[in-house]
Amino acid sequence: MDERDKRRIGEEIEPGGRPKAPGRLELLQRFINSHNHDFPPDWDRLGGGSKAQAWLRQKGLIGAREQVSDADAARLRELREALRALLAGRPAAVEPTRLRVTVDDAGRTALEPDSGGVEGAVATLLGILHEAQLTGAWSRMKACRQCEYAFFDRSKNRSAAWCAMSICGNRTKNRAYYRRRRAV
Ligand SMILES: [Zn+2]
Repeated sequence: MDERDKRRIGEEIEPGGRPKAPGRLELLQRFINSHNHDFPPDWDRLGGGSKAQAWLRQKGLIGAREQVSDADAARLRELREALRALLAGRPAAVEPTRLRVTVDDAGRTALEPDSGGVEGAVATLLGILHEAQLTGAWSRMKACRQCEYAFFDRSKNRSAAWCAMSICGNRTKNRAYYRRRRAV
């Protein structure tokens, strides 16, 4: 995979061509995959206020005139890494946020943020997390054992462990191979 394709991972490209998470969970998945630790730090889509602002606007998480500061971006990255830790089975602290229940004229309920800006974006993302836990979809979200990429495991017995066997599974094997060669 060349660099141009690697930079599209998490947005246009999923490792192994795996389908993205269903429904609104896809947005939360993209949020967690806005950076991967295997890639250079400057590829981080939330690396700094202006990059985070562009990303949140593109996803409709903030309005066209709402601003994102460097401190906001740092807070978003902290939330992202906390969510990644939860997927990887590590404990993590996530600040509570405000959501309100709306009911439309057909009686359908929805959780909506109580405020705008970055606060509202965080609330929307945590609302998605809550929804996904109610539907059970969250239990299929996993962090790749190798690179902690967030993927949705559609396998029947929920046994997938790597983002894509062709990337992370093989890389683990290659590392073992080079270690053996060096030892020789
Ligand atoms: Zn991986």
